[in-house]
Amino acid sequence: MADSFWHDLIREVEDFRRNTRELRVCTPVTANEIRACLSSTFPFDRGMPLDTATREISQLLRQWSVHVTHPRYFGLFNPSVREAAIVGDLLAALYNPQQGAWSHNPAMNEMERHVLRAFTKALGLPEEETIANFTSGGAEANLSAVCTALAHHFPQASEDGLASLPKHPCIYVTEETHHSLVKIARMVGLGTKSIRAVPTTDLLQMDCEELVHAIRRDRDAGWMPFLVIGTAGTTSAGVVDPLAEIARIARQENLWFHADGAWGAAAVLSPRLRPILSGIEQADSVTWDAHKWLSVPMGAGMFFCRHANAVRKAFAVTTSYMPPQSGPDTDDSYTVTTQWSRRAIGLKVFFALAELGLDGYANLIDHQTQMGEVLRHLLENAGWSIVNDTPLPVVCFTHDDIVSNRCTTAGILKTIYEHGKVWISDVVIGNQPKVLRACITSYLTNEKDLQVLIEELEHARNSLL
Ligand SMILES: *Cc1c(COP(=O)(O)O)cnc(C)c1O
Repeated sequence: MADSFWHDLIREVEDFRRNTRELRVCTPVTANEIRACLSSTFPFDRGMPLDTATREISQLLRQWSVHVTHPRYFGLFNPSVREAAIVGDLLAALYNPQQGAWSHNPAMNEMERHVLRAFTKALGLPEEETIANFTSGGAEANLSAVCTALAHHFPQASEDGLASLPKHPCIYVTEETHHSLVKIARMVGLGTKSIRAVPTTDLLQMDCEELVHAIRRDRDAGWMPFLVIGTAGTTSAGVVDPLAEIARIARQENLWFHADGAWGAAAVLSPRLRPILSGIEQADSVTWDAHKWLSVPMGAGMFFCRHANAVRKAFAVTTSYMPPQSGPDTDDSYTVTTQWSRRAIGLKVFFALAELGLDGYANLIDHQTQMGEVLRHLLENAGWSIVNDTPLPVVCFTHDDIVSNRCTTAGILKTIYEHGKVWISDVVIGNQPKVLRACITSYLTNEKDLQVLIEELEHARNSLL
């Protein structure tokens, strides 16, 4: 059985990858339909042959998923995945390296370090000082940033708690900042009232004059500003905050500067796009998700920090049951991250980078950026208007028929999802009414796919009038 099982599995993998474009991107379904199917196929009272289970489960995933690896999935930052990265995840499962302690898997620990070094250099952070680690995603990387900034600014609080501080610390973001920060403020005990939304300019970038005013005002009112977060590619509209200016203000006001580039930081790999992220190299810490624009499976975030000792201070712990530290030039990741037992998250990224090289990645990123530009032209030619301003491939758009309430974004999405040929979403940016949002998330997306998107939009709009 063993041989033919693996052969069949490989055939299934090849078949899915070859034919993804032919599938519906999404199929509306109710929870009860799926539950009924699961109860009859998987009663769990006794086991079943692995090949049968594999067939059934593949079928379920094919039928009732939003296929984010489809070239016409224009959604949130969920990518098509590279073959190399799939191999990486398979080998991570096969060897099951325990990444928590360096000595348990020297090879894998050094492979992760090797990848992270390459990206540290691409970001322009100082290679010797910077410590970097893989995380489950951007949310964990942002959590790591807040923990590290707190440990750096208020070392005593790691023993006595934030409640022991004479004044309350506060954080600067904008309305466009990712909402993982809301949960983080609760988790670390700061509370959401510690988050200050600095007003944005017409371009939805952090207004740096307002930032300075807010810092002064809060200090006068008895708060302790300690952290500012600039976003390199906002989730809704792909906007890049003025990172260099934020860095300057942070230095002047003694604040930690965290750059959240969960999706957009990948633009540093493209020589054409690199200037847009100018200032990211001055950040105290950076979030960058490999599972977004680097086309590897979830979850693979990355956290970079130029102050290695602040990270060690935030996460240091000693136990008798863990293997001893390996040496002065290695860190056991359970002592420098939020996780303990740890999967070899970086293996898929290593594989993808090994196969593509940095220049291969630059080509994929440039191609997707180019497709974003083509999409803007096609939309405008078809009478739609673009409402966000970014060189990155997130396109927010609307239509006179939406603005004048002849149809709604929700109506358009419903029609589009029923058709199943493309997937897009809607979003509120600034304080405007809802607009539609399409992001190029697949390195496989081509101009024909974009034309299908336009046809689907026009069909949905016309059917609602
Ligand atoms: C997606 C995103 C996050 C959260 O990252 P996850 O990988 O989903 O945890 C944080 N910040 C920004 C700007 C994002 O786009």
